[in-house]
Amino acid sequence: RLITLEGGEGVGKSSNVAFVTAWLEARGLEVVSTREPGGTPRAEAIRALLLDPAPAEPLSVDAELLLMFAARAQHLAEKILPALARGAWVVCDRFTDATYAYQGGGRGLDAERIAILERFVQKGMTPDLTLLLDMPVEAASRRVSSRLDDLGGERDRFEREQRGFFTAVRDGYLTRAAAEPERFALIDAAQSLSAVQAQLEITLDQRTAL
Ligand code: C5P
Repeated sequence: RLITLEGGEGVGKSSNVAFVTAWLEARGLEVVSTREPGGTPRAEAIRALLLDPAPAEPLSVDAELLLMFAARAQHLAEKILPALARGAWVVCDRFTDATYAYQGGGRGLDAERIAILERFVQKGMTPDLTLLLDMPVEAASRRVSSRLDDLGGERDRFEREQRGFFTAVRDGYLTRAAAEPERFALIDAAQSLSAVQAQLEITLDQRTAL
């Protein structure tokens, strides 16, 4: 089965991906832990194009969307689908809901265009469970900026510019979760890490029936 973890910047996604992976492994399951965009050498090369910190030219929003799905097609073909076919569990840090939240909510792309590519690349395949780590944008961006101390005096400007974008990303995620409550579990990421993990354990117990 495929479990995805989603959420904006600063919600603690990576520690919790490791936690979910360890929880499943402790039950004797084969677990493939991976991430998007990326997850295989060629998909990681596409990730580097997408996240280039000093791009020679801006990336058009359409090109960004197509590259996201190109990376996903490669990741599915080379890693996710073979793992699921042999009965392994896959834990993925971000998946298609991130495309709806970031390229849709954040960058304003029409959700129907994303849905066309989703059908083309995934052919109806969706995660079995999506853990959405949610917290208010202000608190999340404080966590991010505490990691960005080298920004110095730039930090306030950075935070102001990002806040509108991340609010749209969060709203995009919450809209997805409200539309598919049977797939999504909403996790309150504003709690302490140990409280978040306690909530994850309860959710995994209930939703995986292991
Ligand atoms: O999850 P992670 O922090 O590795 O994501 C790397 C970056 O990729 C994030 O800053 C996120 O904003 C961006 N991203 C994006 N659109 C996606 C997925 C990730 O802009 N669909």
